[in-house]
Amino acid sequence: MPFRPSGSAPAGPPTPTRPPWGGLAVAVLGSTGSIGKSTLDVITSSGGRFVPHLLAARRSVGLLLEQAREFRPRWVVVTDPAAAAKIGADSLPPGTQLAVGEEALDDLVAAPVVDRVVSAIVGAAGLRSTWAAVAAGKTVALANKETLVMAGPLVMRLAADSGATILPVDSEHSAIHQALCSGQPAEVARILLTASGGPFRTRSRESLATVTPAEALRHPTWSMGPKITVDSATMMNKALELIEARWLFDTPAEKLGVVVHPQSIVHSLVEFVDGSVIAQLSPPDMRLPIQYALSYPERLPGPARRMDFTQAARLDFEPPDLARFPAVRLGYEAAARGGTAGAVLNAANEEAVRGFLDGAIAFTDITDICARLLEEHPHQAEPTLDEVLRLDAWARQEVVKWAMV
Ligand code: NAD
Ligand code: MG
Repeated sequence: MPFRPSGSAPAGPPTPTRPPWGGLAVAVLGSTGSIGKSTLDVITSSGGRFVPHLLAARRSVGLLLEQAREFRPRWVVVTDPAAAAKIGADSLPPGTQLAVGEEALDDLVAAPVVDRVVSAIVGAAGLRSTWAAVAAGKTVALANKETLVMAGPLVMRLAADSGATILPVDSEHSAIHQALCSGQPAEVARILLTASGGPFRTRSRESLATVTPAEALRHPTWSMGPKITVDSATMMNKALELIEARWLFDTPAEKLGVVVHPQSIVHSLVEFVDGSVIAQLSPPDMRLPIQYALSYPERLPGPARRMDFTQAARLDFEPPDLARFPAVRLGYEAAARGGTAGAVLNAANEEAVRGFLDGAIAFTDITDICARLLEEHPHQAEPTLDEVLRLDAWARQEVVKWAMV
């Protein structure tokens, strides 16, 4: 395994074993992103129940320092050494220390003082620190779905061995987690993930070829980071979520389905063997699933927006159009094949989205290249983490070659 097992924290002033006021110490990985900022909102309104212990980002140093001054965490971690070098000696508040690099992040996340880890780094880059947290037996609020898409069986086995608890932050999986409490695992007939359909739900297939990054970045119901916003526009996000659900809930692909629900109020549904369907409803606001993952098994009052049933409202449902959004089909396929399929699909997509945002490839190329690499890659049914990472690198190279042609 390329990831070091959890070790001791980098040298520095001794870390207290628990924050003096008794709150749960939270490590926020990706604190400057969309989920990271919503997590800090949840922490602020928790009245001291959650305490920001560590904030980590790659290179958005300005915002990270602002957050450090506001939240006074014990640690800030910058994984990009060049970005960290810009931090002046006197720019951190008293009591906050800087650590640099991915290894330092692994160590600090695994430290005994950390009670909850919010895994909100975007993309495959989130696997490493999530792995460190799971290996250390932490309770992990998992937003970084890519971790399970790439290495679901390995991560779930690691959690079983270490005693870690993985709680979903993804709104669909949080809804499913809540709905599953209504029955026994053997009583589940189907799990249906809802999808907003994204900004191009009603666009013709032909017109999708000319979609611009600015159009793809305009999501109708959710405000999110750029990568997942493009994933929602291609509906690759739903593909990744099918694979995430496959491993998180240990559910065979045949029991998983997708239904388009443009209002993003019903966050997913579980159908039980008697035909009863249990859903979770709330306005689209990630602070609710983040808080649920942090406070589970309790529920707390919080900052998330509420449903208003005094106003007329409607909930629409329609099947996904797999001809216009072939990504969903790739999700079913990768969830059914398992092994290295998820890692290849994820890496191809991540690199293709980067290429699309840089103007190097067309919108519809994203799913085309993912389909090709999923089909062509040397599939392995039970890969090691090294093999997963090797195929991740292979898929990225193939996308770069495609973009250069
Ligand atoms: P974002 O782009 O807004 O933020 C990404 C964060 O990750 C930033 O803080 C960035 O500094 C950090 N980061 C990136 N690479 C890093 C690295 N190598 N080391 C350390 N930090 C790094 O992304 P987001 O929308 O907040 O999404 C984060 C994750 O949550 C993704 O996996 C996404 O799929 C998932 N998710 C997001 C939403 C949402 O509403 N935004 C919903 C469900 C799931
Ligand atoms: Mg989601």
